[in-house]
Amino acid sequence: MTNNNLVYILDGKIYINLTNACTNDCKFCLRQQKDDVQGTNMWLDSENISAQDVITQLEKQTDKISKGVTFCGYGEPTIKFDILKDVAQYLKTNYPNVFIKVNTNGHGNIINKKDILPELKGLVDEFSISLNAQNEELYNLLSQPKVNDAYNEMLNFAKEAVTLGFKTTMSVVSGFENYDLNLKECEKIAHKIGAEFRNREFIPNGY
Ligand code: SF4
Repeated sequence: MTNNNLVYILDGKIYINLTNACTNDCKFCLRQQKDDVQGTNMWLDSENISAQDVITQLEKQTDKISKGVTFCGYGEPTIKFDILKDVAQYLKTNYPNVFIKVNTNGHGNIINKKDILPELKGLVDEFSISLNAQNEELYNLLSQPKVNDAYNEMLNFAKEAVTLGFKTTMSVVSGFENYDLNLKECEKIAHKIGAEFRNREFIPNGY
């Protein structure tokens, strides 16, 4: 029996776990601490999935779709860009009022070697982008990116999301070990870009 939990429920809302691959390796990532989110195992048996696999699992949770759907799992959702797009299209076609959010590390353009944001207009309502640090040096320490110029890539992704009219939030995780995270500076960066700022406190083994 496979263990591909592509759809999971957290606090009564639907989340979609498209992949376990990521172009970051954040020291505070929940996947360093545990295998499940509220009892759902987040490690996929296979990365070989289709949009239909996700839709089949979504169809078992239709009563919760109106509360919104978030692409967020143990990996970077834009790595599965085509599937993300097809699933979002399915949701917007069948549930026109659904609010769709994507939690991302902001590397989607470099990952897909193209500008992905214009293709997501009308499909995604909000991006929550991991800012993670007030400068590149700390970002590289905390997030250990595997792509070149990752910090600037993420900042440019956020700027473009704001310009294109997506609701955009930039987030940090505070309280993880003794890193020199400057919340005021991070907030300033987000606001200068025109994004909202969110500070999530690190909860050991938590959500
Ligand atoms: S970007 Fe997100 S999924 Fe990737 S390692 Fe960091 S916290 Fe984990």
